[in-house]
Amino acid sequence: MSMQAVVYQGPNDVAIEEVEEPELEHPNDVLIDITTSAICGSDLHMYEGRTSADPGIVFGHENMGTVTEVGEGVDTLEEGDRIVAPFNVACGFCQNCENGYTGFCTNVNPGFAGGAYGYVAMGPYTGGQAEQLRVPYADFNALKLPEGDEHEDAFALLADIFPTGWHGTRLADLQPGESIAVFGAGPVGMMAAYSADLQGASEVYIVDRVPSRLELAEENCNATAINFEEGDPVEQIIDEHGAMVDKGVDAVGYQAIDPETDPGDDAYDPARENPAVVLNQLIQTVRPTGKIGVPGLYVPSDPGGPTEMAQQGRLGIDFGKLFEKGLAFGTGQCNVKQYNRELRDMIISGKADPSWVVSHRVDLDEAPEMYEAFDKREEGVTKVLLEP
Ligand SMILES: [Zn+2]
Ligand SMILES: [Zn+2]
Repeated sequence: MSMQAVVYQGPNDVAIEEVEEPELEHPNDVLIDITTSAICGSDLHMYEGRTSADPGIVFGHENMGTVTEVGEGVDTLEEGDRIVAPFNVACGFCQNCENGYTGFCTNVNPGFAGGAYGYVAMGPYTGGQAEQLRVPYADFNALKLPEGDEHEDAFALLADIFPTGWHGTRLADLQPGESIAVFGAGPVGMMAAYSADLQGASEVYIVDRVPSRLELAEENCNATAINFEEGDPVEQIIDEHGAMVDKGVDAVGYQAIDPETDPGDDAYDPARENPAVVLNQLIQTVRPTGKIGVPGLYVPSDPGGPTEMAQQGRLGIDFGKLFEKGLAFGTGQCNVKQYNRELRDMIISGKADPSWVVSHRVDLDEAPEMYEAFDKREEGVTKVLLEP
């Protein structure tokens, strides 16, 4: 039996192809019919050919759906259950999982810490930008949702970006009443700013270059927008706030644009990249002894990087300044299970509704066009949900 899926063809090219339907492979697997999957900024690293991803990968690590088949070892799920799966595939019983670090599970991806669906180097788990998905260690990885289709958009964001944005603020140890600067107003940056607002930040700054994204963050996160094409973001934040801020979040990662470079015709020309620029801006923006959360993605090898150092994942960080200020960095991908249950309950109770970040809900077969539009950071394309 075959199904439709979004399959990576090579740089800047995905296509809808027929692939094998998933099957139960282990007694603790379930199969789900996908009701919603999402395109993520981290899919773009593969899409742009900026990873070692081989053609043929089915993309999609942000997945929710309805259970259709249940392995005989599964205790807590049954056919018809509506679930959302963390993008992390985790076993639940390794040392890291036991300690809550499900993003660094040592059992699901031998030789590496951490597994995910549909992602290069993250283990053998097929992605969910498709009609169906196999969820391994299902008792551990499935988060049950209320029946029906209420909050479908908001719940879909529990697979990654809402917990990941929240994680950025936790890595920075944000406390109520503190000020925070979030670099990057992509979906994760917006979720970090939204999380900071929910957690009682006194002031939230958000830095980007796309006006529509900045406006969206202003409207929904009580954030002050800082456009880095209009001047040094560090100076703008410190001027506006009257001092350095308490905390910072890097929601950009290694494909960061250096504001010192000329936008020219192609604002996202890799020649504008400087993978250390946001980290160094945060070192300048955050007050001495402050903390900086880094959920933005960095990689140990980037063949398309702008310099030889960058290609080896080595960055020119202002470590002297960092040390002088006694700053701390918290890094790494989100351990979704640390947060997704509570964030689900905040959505159910009405305390949180992150669905404002969703700009598109389209049929799965429109994925190729949406990848292209999202990759160009076209105005108005913030978060794209796919519906098989
Ligand atoms: Zn994602
Ligand atoms: Zn584990």
